[in-house]
Amino acid sequence: MRYRSTSGKAPLTSLRGATLRGLAPDGGLYLPVEIARHTPEELEEFRRLPFTEVCFRVVRPFATPDVPEEVLWQIVAEAINFPVKLVSLSPALHILELFHGPTLAFKDFGARFMARLMGYFVRGEERQLTVLVATSGDTGSAVAHGFLRVPGIRVVILYPSKRISEAQEKQFTTLGENITALEISGTFDDCQRLVKQAFADEALNQRAFLTSANSINVARLLPQMFYHVAAYRQLPVASVPLIVSVPSGNFGNLTAGLFAKRLGLPVSRFIAATNANDAVPRYLLSGEYKPKEAVATYSNAMDVGNPNNFPRLLDLCRNRIENVRKEIWGQSATDEETLQQMHYVWDRFRYISDPHTAVGIHAWEAYRKEHPEPSQGLVLATAHPAKFAEIVQKGIGIAPPLPSRLAEYLNRPKLSLPMTTNYDDFKQFLLAH
Ligand SMILES: *Cc1c(COP(=O)(O)O)cnc(C)c1O
Repeated sequence: MRYRSTSGKAPLTSLRGATLRGLAPDGGLYLPVEIARHTPEELEEFRRLPFTEVCFRVVRPFATPDVPEEVLWQIVAEAINFPVKLVSLSPALHILELFHGPTLAFKDFGARFMARLMGYFVRGEERQLTVLVATSGDTGSAVAHGFLRVPGIRVVILYPSKRISEAQEKQFTTLGENITALEISGTFDDCQRLVKQAFADEALNQRAFLTSANSINVARLLPQMFYHVAAYRQLPVASVPLIVSVPSGNFGNLTAGLFAKRLGLPVSRFIAATNANDAVPRYLLSGEYKPKEAVATYSNAMDVGNPNNFPRLLDLCRNRIENVRKEIWGQSATDEETLQQMHYVWDRFRYISDPHTAVGIHAWEAYRKEHPEPSQGLVLATAHPAKFAEIVQKGIGIAPPLPSRLAEYLNRPKLSLPMTTNYDDFKQFLLAH
């Protein structure tokens, strides 16, 4: 597969090129030049074959010829070593739990796959590869764990000081080894800007071998198709349209959903479910894209003012608002609505949802009110409720049970380095270490 830039001015590249560069040299984002549909017979087979085999078949066209089949098989098998669970709360409301990986959030899919793919691509390189990642919460831990002890690679994580939960912070600031966490005195958008500036800095790139692990990296999006297939395997066959509600921040998750739909999976529409950082739902209503500064909310992994996958989303819809509206419906939730939704699903179904998932359920309920014709909703559950215990407690009055792998981290000392939002400080750090 060849990859093209959404800005259209960079040469086509291979998966290796797209993965190691992250951002295209023209400032655009890489997309596969084509996404081939699977036949109905192939899709039917997806229901029967072992999951690893299905993931392998889904990703193979995107990785050929860069990655030999046996290597790709191993990457898939090692990366996706945890289950995707479907919980049906009612015939019309299904929750797809994507948080059964090591860091209890859906980002494990992308990060574990990308880390192994990059590890393969840098074998035999002389220079150490530095992976830069800005995180508003869960990316940091998923990426840190994905890359921990991968030879030839170090990871530098930037995160906004005091804007993420302690559980999130401890998961990536306590690891040490090839993982460094920088605690930035600013917002997530500041972190993202510093990372973008580093990639655009030619002098720096000549001296350091940099790449990105944010969802701008196409290698993170590819494995996010897998769980759409997992849903397809587990959902009861129904004649009503399937609506997939995606709790969204940088819109990588929703972009991967569009990939999966282009493969032929039967999704009628996606819902862009956001918190108060609602640039995309506002765009869908008004036709104008007006990003704003990020504001802090209870679903902090989605506190993104200017979603970095927006150009991909537009491109996949041929840059026409009518097409975007056909495929995506938008809805935002306030913090109050998020709490109410958590309370409602607990009260009604005895199901504990984390605040991000609650934003997704809220959006599905809003969709259903506006579209009373029969349909079934699939809400992507992006994080385990224990990662946001304080907010969950606020919503339902009890604390969610703490899984042991999360409890372990809370007792370890934080090893992060404080840093300002000044680009020169950051650059000096990268060059000095
Ligand atoms: C990252 C994240 C999201 C948002 O995903 P995007 O791909 O950035 O839209 C939602 N929920 C949780 C828990 C996350 O960590």
